[in-house]
Amino acid sequence: MPRINDNFLKLKAGYLFPEIGRRVKAFTDAHPDAAVIKLGIGDVTEPLPEAIRNAMHTAIDDMGRHDSFHGYGPEQGYAFLRDKIAEHDFGRRGCDISADEIFVSDGSKCDTGNVLDILGPDNRIAITDPVYPVYVDTNVMAGNTGEMQEQGGYEGLVYLPVTAENDFNPPLPEGKVDLIYLCFPNNPTGATITKEGLKQWVDYANANDSIILYDAAYQAFITDESLPRSIFEIDGARTCAIEFRSFSKNAGFTGTRCAFTVVPKELTGTTAAGEQHAIHPLWNRRQSTKFNGVSYIVQRGAEAVYSEAGQSQVRELISFYMENARLLREGLGSIGIDCYGGVNAPYVWLKTPGKTTSWDFFDSLLNEAHLVGTPGSGFGAAGEGYFRLSAFNSRENVEEAVGRIRKNLG
Ligand SMILES: *Cc1c(COP(=O)(O)O)cnc(C)c1O
Repeated sequence: MPRINDNFLKLKAGYLFPEIGRRVKAFTDAHPDAAVIKLGIGDVTEPLPEAIRNAMHTAIDDMGRHDSFHGYGPEQGYAFLRDKIAEHDFGRRGCDISADEIFVSDGSKCDTGNVLDILGPDNRIAITDPVYPVYVDTNVMAGNTGEMQEQGGYEGLVYLPVTAENDFNPPLPEGKVDLIYLCFPNNPTGATITKEGLKQWVDYANANDSIILYDAAYQAFITDESLPRSIFEIDGARTCAIEFRSFSKNAGFTGTRCAFTVVPKELTGTTAAGEQHAIHPLWNRRQSTKFNGVSYIVQRGAEAVYSEAGQSQVRELISFYMENARLLREGLGSIGIDCYGGVNAPYVWLKTPGKTTSWDFFDSLLNEAHLVGTPGSGFGAAGEGYFRLSAFNSRENVEEAVGRIRKNLG
C-alpha cells in the first residue's frame, strides 16, 4: 500500500473560499432575485490588452510555418522575453539583474510553492499574518510545520502580525529566521513598504544569513514613485533575496499564465555539511528537470507588455482598477469605516465597525447590501476584525456596490 504525504492532512480543508461559496449559495437560494455583486476574489475582470492579443495572433501564425515553428523552448524562457524583463523591469530602475537570473514560468503561485524544492528541512520560516495562503499551505505540504494550533496558526512557523497598530508593516523577527516571506504591495492588506523599511529587512537578512522570498506581484499598482517596485532596488538584496513577479495582475494574464522569478547568482544557502552553496544553479536544475517552459505564444504576448502600445494599454488597465479602488475607499470612508490600502494596491482592507468579527461583517454585507467580500480572518488570525474588498471589477459593479454600501451600512 503506497504511503501518502500525511502533511496534506494537516491542512485546513480549503476553508475560506468554499465557506464563502456556501454562504453565498444559501443566500441566493433564499433570495433568487437579489443581484449579488462579488468583490471577493483576486482575479482580474478586464480583457487582455490589444497589443498583447496582436502579438499572440502573430505568434500563432509563426507556429503555422516550418521556418518559424517553435517546439520545446528553453526551460528558463526565451531570450527575447528575459532580455526585455531585465532591461525594463530592472535595468531602467537601476537594478543590477541580468537576463540569465530571470526564470520565466507559468505563475508566481507555483514558483512561490516550488521554491521549497530547493530549500532544505529545519529552516525557521517567518510569515506575515494575515498572508497570501499559498506561502503557508505549501510549507505545510512540504512538512516544514507541525499541526494546526487552536489559535489558527501552524506549529513551527514564526508569525509576524500586521495590523493597523503597526501600520501593516511587519516587525522584524525576534531572533534568527532562515526564510522570510514578504509581499509588497500586499495581498490582502494593500500595504506598501518604503525603501528605508525594505532596507531594514535586507540588512536583517544579510546579518542573519536569511533569504527573503519577495512577492512583487502587485508592483505595477504602485502610484507613489518613491516606493520600491523591486527588492533589488535596495543595496544588499542580491545576497539575500529571491523575487517573484507575475503578468497576472498588471497585464491581465491570470488565465493566460506567465510570470517570472529572479534568482541572483550571489545568493547562497548552506549544505548539510555546513558549506555555502549557490541557489541559482539549484533553481536552474529544478526548472530544467520539472518544467518545460511557457508556451512560445504566451511569451510573445508577455513580450508585448513591454512594447510602447503594450505599456500604455497596461497603464490604462491599472488606472482603471485603481479608480475602482478609489471609489471603494472613498465610499467606505464617507460612512466612517476605516480603510487601508487601495492607493498603491488593488485591495481595500477595511476595519469592521466596533467589535464585529470578519465573518459577521461578511454576513451583514451579504444580507443587507448583497455584496460579497473576503473576511480578513481567512488570511490569518491577525486578520480578524478586518475585511478585504477587491478593485478587480467593472466600473458599473463598483459604483453600484458603493451606492449600496452608503445606503445600507451608512
Ligand atoms: C495573484 C497573486 C500572485 C500571482 O499568481 P500567478 O500564479 O502568477 O497568477 C502572486 N502572489 C500574490 C500574493 C497574488 O495575489
